[in-house]
Amino acid sequence: MRLVLLGAPGAGKGTQGLVLADHFGVPHISSGDLLRAHVVAESDLGRQVGAYLARGELVPDDLVLAVIGDAIIAAMRTGGYILDGFPRTLAQAEQAYALAEPAGVAADAVVYLAVPDDEARRRLAGRDDAGRTDDADPAVIERRLRLFHAETKPLLDFYAERGILVTIDAVRTADAVNAAILAALSTD
Ligand code: ADP
Repeated sequence: MRLVLLGAPGAGKGTQGLVLADHFGVPHISSGDLLRAHVVAESDLGRQVGAYLARGELVPDDLVLAVIGDAIIAAMRTGGYILDGFPRTLAQAEQAYALAEPAGVAADAVVYLAVPDDEARRRLAGRDDAGRTDDADPAVIERRLRLFHAETKPLLDFYAERGILVTIDAVRTADAVNAAILAALSTD
């Protein structure tokens, strides 16, 4: 199974990504987790991306690719993945498609976890993730939501045109969201 998860910050991509990876037996590749791991490890890349994460800005494409490239190539080789947080811009989606399509490993489906902004704000304000300084500051949360609308939402059209977009109402329990995703995928 090859899946891309899309959704606002707080939509539940990380939670669903883990469950779906386990269900389908494929790797869960979270660009945010991989970026944060570099920051914690204080690697060269970590030093370069840390400020973007803290401000809630998008990390430049070349740095994102440097961080997640290996995981993506490995996943392409095994043929399955749950991608969470990448692609996040139209440019990234076009790049990923150009790489994956000729290799026959483009996404089978793109799952959009839909939540209203106010629900996303509530969840982020209540999230207690050690090390996620980007959840603590309301101005940073607003910037991430704004970037989601401006940069990531256009991907919905990109994938809808390819006939692989599945939209899931994500304002319910994690278990109910997971059941809805599996039901939608099995009827595709
Ligand atoms: P959320 O979706 O809840 O904001 P993520 O863990 O997916 O959390 O992302 C956290 C931060 O990591 C983003 O605000 C951004 O700075 C950076 N990031 C993650 N993925 C990408 C990406 N594909 N392109 C650019 N920046 C990214």
